Amino acid sequence: MDETTLERYVRAGVIARKALDAAAGRVVEGVKLADVVAEAEGIIKDSGAGVAFPMNISIDAIAAHYTPIPDDPKVFERGQVVKLDLGAHVDGCIADTATTVEVGTNDNTPMVNASREALRAAIELVQPGVRLEHVGKVIEDTIRDAGFSPIINLTGHTMRSWELHAGKSVYNVRRSGSAVLEKGEVVAIEPFATNGEGRVGDSSLSDIYRIVGPGKVRMRTARQILDTVLKEYRTLPFARRMLVKRFGLAQTTIALKQLVVSRALHNYSILKEHGNGIVTQAEHTVVVLDDPIVTTA
Ligand code: MN
Ligand code: MN
Repeated sequence: MDETTLERYVRAGVIARKALDAAAGRVVEGVKLADVVAEAEGIIKDSGAGVAFPMNISIDAIAAHYTPIPDDPKVFERGQVVKLDLGAHVDGCIADTATTVEVGTNDNTPMVNASREALRAAIELVQPGVRLEHVGKVIEDTIRDAGFSPIINLTGHTMRSWELHAGKSVYNVRRSGSAVLEKGEVVAIEPFATNGEGRVGDSSLSDIYRIVGPGKVRMRTARQILDTVLKEYRTLPFARRMLVKRFGLAQTTIALKQLVVSRALHNYSILKEHGNGIVTQAEHTVVVLDDPIVTTA
């Protein structure tokens, strides 16, 4: 990896860290989810970076992929276990990071610590040539030793320029035959712990989308939305709320539906723990070098 690229990854990491810390401090009973997202994504943009994907705020048994809808009225409630997951990019070089906050109580501290500790142990193993099987094993062992289950069908992932998932998966359990990390690769590691069954399934559709094909639509707004998204987000995920100011709520909603039907867009599902268990998550982005750099630390 050349110096300029590394510098971009490091800068994205610093910005993502700043945004996530600010967001975590705002997770208080009565505060609107949408306000926390606006603030965090505002910090990313004001710092000169791009929003790599819509900030996810996933509560209790929701493990991932909830992002506020336009004019979302939801507020944080006491006792909720809140996963905050956000991404910043500098010229396509992405930092992806997440943390878990409990709203006003400490009932789930051991589970919050389990995913955090699993992440720490996993990062210690990262070096050029490490088998992802070993990383998965240490994540699984750490979470099980703490008395919880890792989520088997959520994974970390390598990243490339403008690409959130570049091909290699970091499982949260041991999985033989999995890939090897190479020098210069960038990887997001994200252990999830739960007191449920240890796997997630699709719940309802989220407000998060991504371009997956050219699509053929007649609707003018739909074509304008595709152009806008391609220019600003390329194939990175985006949210409906990011478009409503420009295109209006009704037009945006109809256009996105058409674009999904015509296979131009993929609409992500909200992921829920299968046994309705509480879920915690911790995530950092690491540049794999002889001295690995945790960009989001
Ligand atoms: Mn993430
Ligand atoms: Mn990730």
